[in-house]
Amino acid sequence: MGNRLPLSLFVLFGTLCVTGRTNAAPRASVRSGPTESTGTTPHLQEIFLGRCWGFQQLWQVSPEVNCTNLWDKFFGAFSYHEPCDVMASSYDPFFQAATFETPVNKTMFWSGTNVLAHAYSDEGHRYRTLEDTLPGHILNGLQWCGSPRAPGYNDTVCPQCENRPFWPEASKFFAQRARGDVFVMLNGTRRDASGNPEDAFRTTSIFARVELPSLNKNAISTIHVWVIHDLDADPPYSESCGKGSLSQLDQILSYDGFRMICRDDPPSLRHQQCVDAPYSPLCTSVTSKAPKKNTIYISFLSVVIVSIVLNL
Ligand code: NAD
Repeated sequence: MGNRLPLSLFVLFGTLCVTGRTNAAPRASVRSGPTESTGTTPHLQEIFLGRCWGFQQLWQVSPEVNCTNLWDKFFGAFSYHEPCDVMASSYDPFFQAATFETPVNKTMFWSGTNVLAHAYSDEGHRYRTLEDTLPGHILNGLQWCGSPRAPGYNDTVCPQCENRPFWPEASKFFAQRARGDVFVMLNGTRRDASGNPEDAFRTTSIFARVELPSLNKNAISTIHVWVIHDLDADPPYSESCGKGSLSQLDQILSYDGFRMICRDDPPSLRHQQCVDAPYSPLCTSVTSKAPKKNTIYISFLSVVIVSIVLNL
């Protein structure tokens, strides 16, 4: 018993260290990955194999994909090549073996909303992002690059290449398999590294350049666009449904023959944002509706008194 408090504090501290989670207000922005000055992620092969088998165990994938074969296809695409000299098609044997159909009405794309999109997708239980599929899950947040010399990869530095084909190719395979209603979460209060406002629908994004053009028109019913605004940004927003870059997206989609439904800050996503910021002014309407402890106690007392009086 005496050991409980220190132990629970230790566990709490450890959990915070491992997850890196804080009570900071949720951002719709992108989680930072490894920097370009570092090389291939240490233990890449072990992480790849562990994630690959773990994912299949979790989702009961059947028939099982052989993760060692998958690693060979992945490693073969870039190893013993110059780091910036890998073609997108080199990864195709890997994606062909690792990509499955996404369940109908589940596909979710994101652009500028990495953190919120993944909190909401719930590791694929609510919606499926690319990172909730086998290839995306295996490689998310990792870094790698080839080297013409043994062992075939560079573990000290990966240059910032103009051509980085892995994620665009992953997005292509993922988008080609979307069916039914699809969803995209965009950031209506997006800012660049210097803090300047950016478009929610960026024409240079992977969503615009790769995912939209890869959709199979005959398999898609509706594209639902969710425009998310940070809790601390004041309306009116210049980037919202029908305004700014969203009207451009509207035109592109109707020209391509897609049905689009755009919503600003759908309530379920506002609630998701409020999970981490319950006292933000936009969240307090929810918080203040919760019965206070005193109210519960007084109600209970009233019921007891009324029961006693009625019994007399
Ligand atoms: P975004 O602008 O928010 O970019 C998302 C991430 O992709 C950022 O970390 C960005 O640095 C990186 N990125 C952008 N272009 C890239 C490229 N050519 N090669 C490698 N990385 C690149 O949104 P976006 O550009 O629309 O991309 C998001 C969509 O594409 C999502 O649907 C996502 O599933 C997929 N994607 C995922 C990853 C990932 O690391 N998991 C990376 C790129 C794209």
